[in-house]
Amino acid sequence: MKFIDFNLHQNVFEGVEAMGFEEPSPVQKLVIPLAIQGKDLIACAQTGTGKTAAYLLPLMHHLSINRSSKIKGLILAPTRELVLQIDQQFQGFAYYTGLESIAIYGGNDSSVWEQQRVAIERGCNVLIASPGRLLSHLNLGYVDLKELEFLILDEADKMLDMGFVDDLVKIISYIPEKRQTLLFSATMPPKIRTLANKVCKKPEEINIAVSKPAEGVLQAAYLVYDNQKNKLIAHLLAEKELDSVIIFSSTKQKVKSLVGDLVKAGFAAKAIHSDLEQSVRESVMRDFRNRKFPILVATDIVSRGIDIDNIGLIVNYDVPHDAEDYVHRVGRTARASSTGVALTFINPTDIQRFARIEKLIGDTIYKAPNPESIGAGPAYEPGKTKGGNRNYSKSKGNKNKNFRKPSGHNKQSN
Ligand code: AMP
Repeated sequence: MKFIDFNLHQNVFEGVEAMGFEEPSPVQKLVIPLAIQGKDLIACAQTGTGKTAAYLLPLMHHLSINRSSKIKGLILAPTRELVLQIDQQFQGFAYYTGLESIAIYGGNDSSVWEQQRVAIERGCNVLIASPGRLLSHLNLGYVDLKELEFLILDEADKMLDMGFVDDLVKIISYIPEKRQTLLFSATMPPKIRTLANKVCKKPEEINIAVSKPAEGVLQAAYLVYDNQKNKLIAHLLAEKELDSVIIFSSTKQKVKSLVGDLVKAGFAAKAIHSDLEQSVRESVMRDFRNRKFPILVATDIVSRGIDIDNIGLIVNYDVPHDAEDYVHRVGRTARASSTGVALTFINPTDIQRFARIEKLIGDTIYKAPNPESIGAGPAYEPGKTKGGNRNYSKSKGNKNKNFRKPSGHNKQSN
């Protein structure tokens, strides 16, 4: 199947060609025909599967056929980064359509608020928004969603995890009931089904196995005490020549201190976290994408939804809180059939959490011996809160070829 077979509006099809898309991805093959028919959908699909184009193209197709100056489409996404990324794809595909979008996202900058307000009042075809900020604008009365026909929820599970459920319900109360709703989520826990039943009408269900983005990833974990983590990271970074590394940590304090330590140790590293101004975050992301510096240290905010290709190494400096986030983070590497490496540091308190991740992905991740210079770490004994020391000192350190390439990561959604 080719994009031409979807019979998209000519102007949309030309946008697809201009973007250089040749072959539709599996999620696009499933979603686009149903969405063109006007069906409601619940799609279980991760970042990296091509889900953004899967909903943008049918939306643009409909909007190109029935032109209107009113806001007809609303795309809700959990983070500013994702909102901006969706908006960028929109701009790309919309080039020949004349359709216009506005990105609405939160931030500390009052001029951005004003720009968003002015843009909304000037009008557009599609709003791409994070829920909290959109609701703030809605409450002030100048956002007219009465003619809305298309609602898309992207990363719905993340929006619920971030506590946006009430905001979503309120936003939806401003939207006509007669509409098409598409809900995308990387996972399908019961709370997503409850939400889907509320917002969709007789939805078709689509499930794309999550194994794809992670297929080429070589995964391994190190058992370490907290005071060994920085030494280990410096060791790993010095060992390999990598032009693109993301290190995830659980808190912005840790991100700030780690990036400081790395810079002191001579590594070109920059941080991204929610204390930074939006413009700084954008320029850090842009420079990282353009390979202007090799090491990005980040909190959870960039782990989902952000599309940066060919990350050579992902390090989970802390075990992610949600098992699903592990899969998302690892999904940042080895995209488009390249290979990548994902390493996780497990301290004694994270052992149990890591065991849950292994359960979720249905695989045991290779526990690499600590390099000699780092010394032994705790033992991997899930079920016990604290482990004894296991002596890895005879090890020659970690070599990629020893990493276990997982046989599959099919996450069982319920
Ligand atoms: P997404 O899952 O929507 O974040 O897409 C992941 C990346 O794949 C983005 O960079 C898209 O531009 C790219 N992409 C999506 N679909 C296709 C396709 N059919 N052909 C080529 N690239 C694609």
